[in-house]
Amino acid sequence: MTPECNNDCPICLNKTTRTRNDETNRRLSVNKIRQLIDEASDIGMVGVYWTGGEPLMEYKNLLHLSEYSSKKGLLPTVITNGGLIGAYGNYKKQNQMLLNKAGLFDLDTSQIVKSLKDSGIIRVYFSIDSSHTTLESVYSDVYNVVPTEAVSRAIIAFLDEGYGKKHNLDAIGHQLRVTATSSGLLTKPTNKIVEDVMRKVGLKLKEELSVNASIYKNEKGQVFLRRLNVASLGDAENFDDNILENKKGEKLFDIQCPHFIPREKAYDDGKHHGDLFIDYDGIVYTCGNHAYPVGDVYEESLVSIIDGINNPSNDGNFSLTRNVYHSLLVLSRHTGIKNIAIGEALRMIYSENPELVHNIQTQCGACSSLGHRKDLQQAFLKAFDKHYT
Ligand code: SF4
Repeated sequence: MTPECNNDCPICLNKTTRTRNDETNRRLSVNKIRQLIDEASDIGMVGVYWTGGEPLMEYKNLLHLSEYSSKKGLLPTVITNGGLIGAYGNYKKQNQMLLNKAGLFDLDTSQIVKSLKDSGIIRVYFSIDSSHTTLESVYSDVYNVVPTEAVSRAIIAFLDEGYGKKHNLDAIGHQLRVTATSSGLLTKPTNKIVEDVMRKVGLKLKEELSVNASIYKNEKGQVFLRRLNVASLGDAENFDDNILENKKGEKLFDIQCPHFIPREKAYDDGKHHGDLFIDYDGIVYTCGNHAYPVGDVYEESLVSIIDGINNPSNDGNFSLTRNVYHSLLVLSRHTGIKNIAIGEALRMIYSENPELVHNIQTQCGACSSLGHRKDLQQAFLKAFDKHYT
């Protein structure tokens, strides 16, 4: 929706923090997004995630586009830090200009939530990490960090509107989710912030599904909590070594990613995979971590981009990446490879030239390197040709 944000997270995978709001960027227009929805609907896609930056910064467009995508059969999910939805007190005053620009200042939390519901938003992901604060920030002068009070108010308002359920489509699942992103030294403060939010909403742990996933509950409904490890996300280039996991050399070979489970074998009958991420500047990636740039919506239709992944040629700006991504998908269909396709690719590169995979530390960082570094890409395609064609 936008590169602009009301928060200043150091870990932002989209690299779009508040301090960068004034940078001029190529932006997708509302018309362009409508056209993309039309195309996605024509080829049978079933959902759309609105992200940013903070999608509520484009509140009116968000309502319009959610309504439009719902009519076209693409169920909309919004991914938000919650701050602009639940803003009140001093935090609201301090952010008056920004809230006015978004068209939100004169609305209260329940009005905003009702309008989102009316526009067809089916699911809400709250992103919470160590850059939210447990300070009673509504009484302080902190304006660029979302207070937990605001997030809690937003979650309460969605619970009041009946979002605390599981959707009858498995691919949607829980309609309210909290995604807590942390790692190493960030884990403690993030856990404290999540606990603070859950306590303020009055939610109690109902069930632990795994070490990373649990369900919280109160009398109004349920919230699904997913903990993500930042060390496995993005290139995490701003972090010290003591925060990151240390996956170097051979430790990279076992990295796993559900994006590379063959589609028909993916959990939920494959409904979750096959995502495309379209950045605010129109570049299309195969994953929200900007891993594989495969096209530009100003140059080609979505159908043509997808065809370019399925039948990659050797011409055009994105041909190398399309060939690499296609080969990874082919690899994932070989017996015993499945979700370790990236690890297997790095093993192959390592066997050609171990130097090339030195100094890669994180799971998604390794994957993104393969999506962006020509030396790795060429070594992988060479090894792939040798072993798998
Ligand atoms: S960046 Fe790569 S490893 Fe990370 S989630 Fe995306 S596809 Fe998976």
